[in-house]
Amino acid sequence: MVELAARNLGARIKRNKQKDFGDVIELRFGPSRSSRKPVLLLGHLDTVWPLGTLKTMPWREADGRYWGPGVLDMKAGVVMALAAISTLRELKLARPVVLLLNSEEEVGSPVSRAITESLALKSEVVFVLEPAQGLAYKTARKGVGQYNVQVTGVGAHSGVDFVNGHSAVLELAKLVQTISNFTNLERNLTVNCGVIAGGTRSNVVASQAYAEVDVRIAKASDAAYVEKLFRSLKVSDPHCTLTISGGVNRPPMERKAGTIALFKRARGIAAELGFDLQEASTGGGSDGNFTAALGIPTLDGMGAVGDGAHAAHESVVIEHLVPRTALLAAMIASVG
Ligand SMILES: [Zn+2]
Repeated sequence: MVELAARNLGARIKRNKQKDFGDVIELRFGPSRSSRKPVLLLGHLDTVWPLGTLKTMPWREADGRYWGPGVLDMKAGVVMALAAISTLRELKLARPVVLLLNSEEEVGSPVSRAITESLALKSEVVFVLEPAQGLAYKTARKGVGQYNVQVTGVGAHSGVDFVNGHSAVLELAKLVQTISNFTNLERNLTVNCGVIAGGTRSNVVASQAYAEVDVRIAKASDAAYVEKLFRSLKVSDPHCTLTISGGVNRPPMERKAGTIALFKRARGIAAELGFDLQEASTGGGSDGNFTAALGIPTLDGMGAVGDGAHAAHESVVIEHLVPRTALLAAMIASVG
């Protein structure tokens, strides 16, 4: 569908073939040869919803909104990009515009990251079609990490052989306390032990336990700081062993000069279009984190306005679609 729409807009299409995920689709518009660097638009075609969700959560229009799985995050953003390009095509694009669409953003962009980064390095600016934060564009995002903490103890019968057992569950429980204390709100650093599991039965001293930990950082330099904290973890029972894996996989998008300049321009254009545009920061990550961390001016949250991303009430407010698409088009054109 997207490729058909893009082809009708004169796109040159490149499919970066993938085995384990959907292909990463690169759509190029505007002059095929240009001395000017492209504008890179980032979108994703995947959603957090399992296949078949449309049966129980069908697309519908009601109460001035479109409802359905992925409408806000970010089907609408992709449509807005195509609509903006369609408008600009009639005015002739001054420089190339590349719309990059991946299918594994919601699981951390494992295969598209390298493609996104290499395209970003050749681009003038990056605009990300993720939903707005309320009504605001996003000028900063936290970095995201995941750590897996695995404890191996010594299993034993809890009645017959208790003293020879060394509980992985007990060790993990202590570690969860320590890890949770890594949170430092002043530093804007949060650590969440979101999943714990371990043991097999109540009458067995547990030989295995693990935790999955989510980490959010506001400063790029905190990735090394957090890494040091996790690598310094130790078990108190010498019969237990600890294995730590993972790390920060999305650097933070810090609020830097290039992004601020783009936002100020957007706010000026929005005022001309008759609405007030604010900026916001968020704890959630996007592919904009990668491009911003490379120093490429990146503006995020340029997609739809709505509520309930990743939730059953996911919806897009229709009245904002046209003005926001006009703003997106004007922003693309403004790069000159
Ligand atoms: Zn998204």
